[in-house]
Amino acid sequence: MERVYIGLGSNLADPAEQLRNALKALGQLAHSRLVGVSSFYASDSLLPGQPRFTNAVAALDSELEPLALLDALQAIELDQGRERHERWGPRTLDLDILLFGERLIDEPRLKVPHYHLHARPFVLYPLAELAPELLLADGRSLDQLLADCPFVGLERL
Ligand code: AMP
Repeated sequence: MERVYIGLGSNLADPAEQLRNALKALGQLAHSRLVGVSSFYASDSLLPGQPRFTNAVAALDSELEPLALLDALQAIELDQGRERHERWGPRTLDLDILLFGERLIDEPRLKVPHYHLHARPFVLYPLAELAPELLLADGRSLDQLLADCPFVGLERL
């Protein structure tokens, strides 16, 4: 069993409902147990003119291997009608593996820690609700990352 943190985001088609449905699906994943969910946050889109995102982070204890979990997350995304038009474009549901135990993964389909982790307030602040004492594999603490990442463009819902 490894502790996995998953970032959830949506800015289309009733984002909070998308997140609730995704959390339901995460709660039903085989060989896994959903052990925590952060508050929901509204965040400004990184691209001007796009609707704001709703974001949250979930903690999952899982026996799945990382790529099997990625497959399962992508199946949930597809199931909820995510359309992939443009990178960074609006999306009904985005699920990212932020951290997978202590693992460092560098595969074509999967980079862990997720490249968003270090600088994005909509990832760090919800993550801090679930794991305030978190230490990354490279020795940095979540506290340090938060100190360099102001609570800007973010609203706790
Ligand atoms: P995006 O459009 O930003 O959601 O990127 C989706 C692609 O990122 C997928 O095809 C994944 O294979 C890849 N990817 C790489 N690292 C990760 C990760 N840690 N979590 C989720 N997807 C990832």
